[in-house]
Amino acid sequence: MTQRLQNFIDGAWHSSSAPQVLNVLNPASAQVLAEVPLSPAAEVHQAAETAARAFEGWRRTPAGERVQPLFKLKILLEENLEDLARAITDECGKTRAESIGEMRRAIENVETACGIPMLMQGCNNEDIAAGIDEHMIRQPLGVVAAITPFNFPGMIPFWFLPYAVAAGNCFILKPSERVPFTSWKLFHLMEKAGFPPGVIQLVNGGREAVDAILDHPAIRAVSFVGSTATARYIYSRAAANGKRAQCQGGAKNPVVVMPDADMEMTTRILADSAFGCAGQRCLAASVAITVGDARPGLTERIAEAARNRKVGCGLSSGVEMGPVISLESKARIEGLIAKGEQEGAHILVDGRGGKVAGYEEGFFVFPTILDEVPPGGVSARTEIFGPVLSLMHANTIDQAIKLVNHRAYGNMACIFTSDGANARRFRYEVAAGNVGINVGVAAPMSSFPFSGWGESFFGDLHAQAHHGVEFYTQTKVVVERWPKDWSRKF
Ligand code: NAD
Repeated sequence: MTQRLQNFIDGAWHSSSAPQVLNVLNPASAQVLAEVPLSPAAEVHQAAETAARAFEGWRRTPAGERVQPLFKLKILLEENLEDLARAITDECGKTRAESIGEMRRAIENVETACGIPMLMQGCNNEDIAAGIDEHMIRQPLGVVAAITPFNFPGMIPFWFLPYAVAAGNCFILKPSERVPFTSWKLFHLMEKAGFPPGVIQLVNGGREAVDAILDHPAIRAVSFVGSTATARYIYSRAAANGKRAQCQGGAKNPVVVMPDADMEMTTRILADSAFGCAGQRCLAASVAITVGDARPGLTERIAEAARNRKVGCGLSSGVEMGPVISLESKARIEGLIAKGEQEGAHILVDGRGGKVAGYEEGFFVFPTILDEVPPGGVSARTEIFGPVLSLMHANTIDQAIKLVNHRAYGNMACIFTSDGANARRFRYEVAAGNVGINVGVAAPMSSFPFSGWGESFFGDLHAQAHHGVEFYTQTKVVVERWPKDWSRKF
């Protein structure tokens, strides 16, 4: 019988009363892994109210004690790395190496949040006037929630959870209904880490659960990662209800290749960026802009790299790229490739219709390259979120930077060059929050904020590091006078 996933509320596992469940599929084989309930609003309310009660004790727990379950969690995550990576590959389709890499990034965030006794420190000034001192203290908000996407089921919850709970908040996760299995495993480990009941909770679901989070008065802040349309919706509804919100949206990431770049290295890194995780990374390179003489060298090499990439089930040895998440996603990607061709692009490598022996039902799209992509068309501007790289060409770096900045998204932009002046100019002028110089996936480490711009981010404070701590805390300023203070004598 297919396993039905449960919710974790008030320190225990509960079956949802949801009338509707969805099948969770392995995208490599189309086999059903589990069933996920689309929990009703009442179950979100129950989690929020439990969390609000738990907050009274958790916020009074000293920071040094609050991080002890996180230290334990780090060990549990290390000990169960293979099992968690297997869950990610099973439900998300990544290769084993990609899934392990994802979990390493999750663990890094747990480690960084363990520094909360210092990260959360306030500041003060003595004698702002004679005998009067002023202090700024950071206090937790209360109950906070995160709504996460399908493409990093093991990592993205950890952009939020460790900082939120370390800072003294109680946290609710609503994972993507397409990949709930990894969260279910993660919460089984968190159960062993020693968080008091109500501090961390898991509610599976879809739109009804999201709306219940956005509307519940006890939930003070919402973190979101997903497509731009949903990010915009969540940001406005959360704000209308007086909540803090940080909403990371979609992307269309350009990479500029200068004629002085090391073409072998550039090709290898660019292919990993465009086709790694089957192109389903918000930091995937999706448009490569060659400048001047870079064009022939890069075009030939990247086409060869696309043709040679080994596609298959993420668990098979030697496989470099797995399937995309669903049949609908495969159809959407293949439709966008056709649309690109209709708009004038030339299909240099066509990954449509590819089959993997033994996995004939899998949702595979092979690496695809579109050349001579028109700047205003879908291949240049629409997030495809699949293994499709669009090629564009510019005569000068000025033209290339204009093309980079002529788009709505601002998640990442990269340059490949051996000239420091070009690199500096690019870094200075591009409208993107994460910039790579001879790097293809400019993913900020956990000690830096994940700095999307434009339509890739709605909010002020980003995920991770000190931005995460600021997002999950409110400042209190105390101005203090003690009339009998000894300093009055002087
Ligand atoms: P999605 O927007 O479809 O879903 C994300 C979450 O929102 C899920 O939990 C889902 O249940 C919920 N949701 C979806 N539609 C909703 C609606 N209409 N109302 C309320 N809730 C809704 O995104 P996805 O397909 O799971 O993820 C892929 C997207 O995420 C891509 O656009 C990718 O670029 C983006 N992403 C961005 C970043 C970043 O850091 N900027 C990181 C990872 C992924």
